[in-house]
Amino acid sequence: MTRLIINGRDLHRFKRRASRGYPREVYGILLGKKLKNDTFKILRIALPRLVEATYDYVIPDYDEIDRIIAQSGLLYIGSIHSHPQAPPTISYHDYMHWENDKVVGILSVRKRNAYKVSELKFWKKNTPLPVKFKTFIPGSN
Ligand SMILES: [Zn+2]
Repeated sequence: MTRLIINGRDLHRFKRRASRGYPREVYGILLGKKLKNDTFKILRIALPRLVEATYDYVIPDYDEIDRIIAQSGLLYIGSIHSHPQAPPTISYHDYMHWENDKVVGILSVRKRNAYKVSELKFWKKNTPLPVKFKTFIPGSN
């Protein structure tokens, strides 16, 4: 069963970006390495430039993504994006555009009066249950 261990600092940064970007969708790529037992360690969440960002989809700069991956020396594991005012589940658009992502993370961002709440889930293609994940703080072990 696929599991993820995610850089908590980068995840926090992504959540903050998604909250500020609201009501637009925000997108990042997950870079890391494969451990034993189908576990992926996400060492970095990079935020490539977006060519277009609306409330329900983004078009990232794919050339920049290729450069980021090449320079990182890490494995491309998947992507993460926000769903403003929508659940953290795979949309039809997400499904149709799912290419070689091992996992796709979706952060639901909803506005409740003055503040925003978020809910995060990671998905593997054609698997009904979300992928389990935990975070680590870099430098702590
Ligand atoms: Zn989506």
